This record gives sequence, structure tokens and C-alpha cells, in this order.
Amino acid sequence: MSSADYSFETKLLHNQHKVDPATGAVSVPIQHASTFHQFDIESFGKYDYARSANPTREALEDVIAELEGGTRGFAFSSGMAAISTAFLLLSAGDHIVITEDVYGGTFRMVTQVLTRFGIEHTFVDMTDLTQVKNAVKPNTKAFYVETPSNPTLKVTDIEAISSLAKEINAITYVDNTFLTPQYQRPLELGADIVLHSATKFLSGHSDVVAGLAVVKDEELGNRLYSLQNSFGAVLGVQDAWLVLRGLKTLHVRLEQSQKSALTIAEFLESHPLIEKVYYPALTNHPQHELQQKQASGAGAVLSFELSDEEALRTFVSNVKIPVFAVSLGAVESILSYPAKMSHAAMPQEEREKRGIKNSLLRLSVGLENPEDLIKDFSQALQVIYEKQLNV
Ligand SMILES: *Cc1c(COP(=O)(O)O)cnc(C)c1O
Repeated sequence: MSSADYSFETKLLHNQHKVDPATGAVSVPIQHASTFHQFDIESFGKYDYARSANPTREALEDVIAELEGGTRGFAFSSGMAAISTAFLLLSAGDHIVITEDVYGGTFRMVTQVLTRFGIEHTFVDMTDLTQVKNAVKPNTKAFYVETPSNPTLKVTDIEAISSLAKEINAITYVDNTFLTPQYQRPLELGADIVLHSATKFLSGHSDVVAGLAVVKDEELGNRLYSLQNSFGAVLGVQDAWLVLRGLKTLHVRLEQSQKSALTIAEFLESHPLIEKVYYPALTNHPQHELQQKQASGAGAVLSFELSDEEALRTFVSNVKIPVFAVSLGAVESILSYPAKMSHAAMPQEEREKRGIKNSLLRLSVGLENPEDLIKDFSQALQVIYEKQLNV
């Protein structure tokens, strides 16, 4: 049995970097060197300068490639560095079809930066394949997918988009931050490039900012490597080590958080003061079946709507357990206010078109006992109820 046959949780621990071949160390050594002595003037060694290759960063790149079922991984200084570098595969005159509820930073990159370099885009509701097809132009060179999307958890058919892309010789990018390769492997569904904010579930402890990209095609891998080395937004070795450390417990963390997320989603859905719950594991989610077909889990992020902004303010000021912050995918539950946080860069009108109301909250479920979270939410909702009675 080779490690390629191991199940996902075993691979997290027993992959090609389980021990350091030089010493037998069971933790990848942190190699700080920025340059490497060349023993032979005629032929240089594998490593020469650490922007181009560094053994610690390389270990993380190998591991994520293996977990995603790709051939080559790349580690960047943030999720946005991974995404922006991957966009540099495109050239002036190219056109991207992109999901309308994309991560705020990606929205900013596409609308404010790429446009200055002559790369055009069209936003579409990617759950509607007709809209996607109608957006295709003669110069369409890429499709950009994020599924489930942020913060309304819409699900896009990765296989359908990838095959549409192949028909016109375009590439498909998938931001897999929310589900990680544990629940969704876009390369196996035909996508070309998987992107991650490793800041989130992969590292999992709110203590590192990092990004990853994985490809399957060798030629695409060579092009992305050249861009990583040219642009230079590589991940530092301490941070690479933190992501490697976080990955070892990814399976237990995500399984537990997902289980709690379902319990909490069901509680919220049955509560009279909650208008709506967005979570793909709920059977009333519009793409529930697609989610079950293309992924083995729904993850640990959900969103919910209160009656109005006033109720939301009362709720946020009365909950005690989750941290109220941007970001997601950590051991502690994180409650975010998309309208003022992740999507603040989007004008209100654009936000409302995407269903991101001022009464919407996003919850990334951590490792607390879900009953404690439910008790905490119940008491905060009770305050809203009492306020409404008093007016
Ligand atoms: C956080 C996030 C990003 C950006 O990653 P950074 O590490 O913050 O640069 C991209 N996509 C998604 C879905 C995210 O949640």
C-alpha cells in the first residue's frame, strides 16, 4: 500500500514529508537560508535562492498538491497573493467570466487592478449555467468559481463550468477555501487551478496568513512557477511550517466543526426570530443535491438573516462566545458582518443585488460545544424579543 492509496486523514500525517530524510525528524525542518552554497561550478544544486525554491516551503507545496490530487503546488504570502499571481496567467485583451458573489478581495483585484491591464470581466450568477454561457465572448480565457460562495453559500457546478471552459480552450479557477480538499477536489472535477486562502481552515488557528495554488497540468505548472518566481510573493518559512502543522489536524477540526454547523443551522432555522439560514447541508438549500454530488461535505460556514439591522445590532452586542471579526475557518467560532467586513468594498447597491443584506451575519463554526453556542445565541435572541415587546 503506497501513500497514494491512503485515505485523506491518513495522508495528512503520512505523506512524502512525514520524516526528514536527513535526520528522521518527524516535523519538517524550518530552513531559514536565503541562499545555498554551490559545490560544483559546472552544475548547481536543486536549491540556489530561496525565492525560487526553499525546502520548507516546498514541503507544504508537495503536501497540498498531493491532497488536492494535483501534480504541483505553490505557496504564497496570502490567499490574495495566490489568486493575483494566478490571474497573471492571463494577458491584455482576455476576458474572465466570474461568479458575482466572489470574495471581496478578488472583486477588488478584478474590478480595480486587472481592468487597468486590459483584462475584462463579466459577473454572473454561476448557479445559472445559461447566464454563464451567455456571458462567454470570443476572448473569454477563464472562468472563476468560488463554491460554496461567500456569504450566501451558493453552489456552482464545477464539472459543468470546467467542461464549458474546455470547449473554448479557457481555464477554470476554483477558490476551494471553504471546503478544502477534505470535502471537495476541483481538479478531479475538471478544474485547472485550485486556489486557497490557507489562512482559514487549512492552518485553522487564526495565527497565519498564507495562500496556496495547485495545478494538475505540467505545462500550466511551469507557467505558474515562473509567475511565482517573477512576482515573488512567496510564503515565508515560519508561516509555511505553521500551515504544515495546521494541516495535520485538518480532518478532526473540520469534521467536528461541520457537525456542529449542522446542529446550529437547524437550531437557527427553527427559531422564530431568524428570517433565513444559508447552509448547503440543509435540504431546503436550492443547490443541496448538487452540493451532495460534487462534495463530500458542506463545511462549517453558514449565514443567517435577522429581521433588520436593529435586531442584528442587538444580537451582535449580546452574544458572548464567538469572536466578532473578519476571517473564518478557525478553532474558535467567528461571527462576521459581511456588509461591514468582507464585502465593505462593494457598494451597497451591488451588495443588495447579491442578497448581502444589512441584516445578514456569517458564522464560521469552531470547536466549542455546539450546545454552548446555541445557549449563547438563544439568550441574545431573547434580548431582541424583549426589546420588540417593549416598543
Ligand atoms: C480569506 C479569503 C481569501 C483571501 O485570502 P487571504 O489569505 O486573506 O489573502 C480568498 N478567498 C476566500 C474564499 C477567502 O475566504
